[in-house]
Amino acid sequence: MSPLDVLPAHPRCLPSLPRRPAVILSPASHDRDDSADDAFFPDLPPLLRGHPDIHLRNGVLTAARLAALHEPDAEKAYFVADLSYIYNQHQRWQRCLPEVEPFYAIKCNPDPYVLRLLAALGTGFDCASNGEIAQVLSIGVAPERIIFANPCKATSFIKNAARSRVHMMTFDNADELYKVARANPAAQLVLRILTDDSKSLCRLGLKFGAPLASVPGLLAKARELGLDVVGISFHVGSGCYDSSAFADAVMRARAAFDMGAAAGYAFRLLDVGGGFEEATFEATAAILRDALDRHFPDRADLRIIAEPGRFYVARAFTLAANIIARRAPLDGEHAAASGADGEPVVMYYINDGVYGAFNCILFDHQQVHPYVLAMGGSFHVPGNAPQSTSSVWGPTCDSIDCVCPVVALPAALQVGDWLAFANMGAYTVCAASQFNGFQVSAVVYTTGGGPGAQETRHALRTAAGEGALK
Ligand SMILES: *Cc1c(COP(=O)(O)O)cnc(C)c1O
Repeated sequence: MSPLDVLPAHPRCLPSLPRRPAVILSPASHDRDDSADDAFFPDLPPLLRGHPDIHLRNGVLTAARLAALHEPDAEKAYFVADLSYIYNQHQRWQRCLPEVEPFYAIKCNPDPYVLRLLAALGTGFDCASNGEIAQVLSIGVAPERIIFANPCKATSFIKNAARSRVHMMTFDNADELYKVARANPAAQLVLRILTDDSKSLCRLGLKFGAPLASVPGLLAKARELGLDVVGISFHVGSGCYDSSAFADAVMRARAAFDMGAAAGYAFRLLDVGGGFEEATFEATAAILRDALDRHFPDRADLRIIAEPGRFYVARAFTLAANIIARRAPLDGEHAAASGADGEPVVMYYINDGVYGAFNCILFDHQQVHPYVLAMGGSFHVPGNAPQSTSSVWGPTCDSIDCVCPVVALPAALQVGDWLAFANMGAYTVCAASQFNGFQVSAVVYTTGGGPGAQETRHALRTAAGEGALK
């Protein structure tokens, strides 16, 4: 790698931002005169209107203002969440899979607005712990709309769920049956079977799921303990990029249903789990519908549910982060566009990283792609700007904190400029830490400026007004 030196922060960057915006932003874009309408829930941040890009840019302008006032953390990173995206995903779900009831997997993003919106839209919830169950119940969701979808639960959690009247829960081993028989004999058990998850980013089968060969034994044990097993569940793996995994999984579920009948159970529930990807959703839904028609042709009495997480929220959140430091060849040195073997010549340091929102890189096997939000005091980035091969790093003192190892970014990009990352709603905020004293980035909420904006507001307003969802 070529020798790189620290370039001093360029003084013009932050304070000059408002002076020459190439894109004119009207302050009215916030709908200020309608601000009473922003506060649906007293304890939550306001619910803004307008396209998320407006709020991404407003955040940059606000940061410049705060920096001029010498506010600590003036240029902090922030998310913009477009809740209408979630509303539209729900419409898409109902269009493609009208017979499958979604139970949103809250571990994916337990954001208070996301949960309230989905509750208002009528989804159920997949919870894995006391904390998640309490959070969903606290917004007024009935316990029947919760599945405790963790096959390996602490006995105290099973008891606590029973006290809250959450009875539907998964299992995949005999010890769980003994625990449930003691802690909640009224449980409605769902047996999670193992499926082929080899085409997924996160292979959940390494940890959960009963192989079909063990199903008859588990069902015999459940009968012996007098427990009610109501159906079968599976999870093809999170980030499943092969839709045919669902066809195989439904076939295995059919086999498990037949084993249930042989054991004297009349199963009435099929839970097809999560793993739905935004990009392949229509294809996956078609494969799932075909598989259901083939393996469950007579299903008038069958309740079919799913546990989508990522599908609902991944693209609803965008993160804006400030370039707080840069390491580049000194001015006057010959600045190559890239190093000898195409390795980065410029290193950018931004104020969120893998210990924060970008934990998805480590835990969720994601790659993230920045785009320039603001450069040199302007929101306009010329398409023909010369590029340098760059790397992007988080703010902590750990070298594992790398956001993008190699990425082409404009050569003129420097300290004070802003990068944005789309597709940051799934498995990001929820697992962020405060390692090294860096706070978790806050969220700015909008109901968007396009289709679904009114409906999203209406759903949240009704819910808040009725008090059904505190
Ligand atoms: C994580 C998880 C989900 C959600 O998976 P996605 O890939 O985000 O859809 C659903 N069900 C269970 C049991 C999970 O653990």
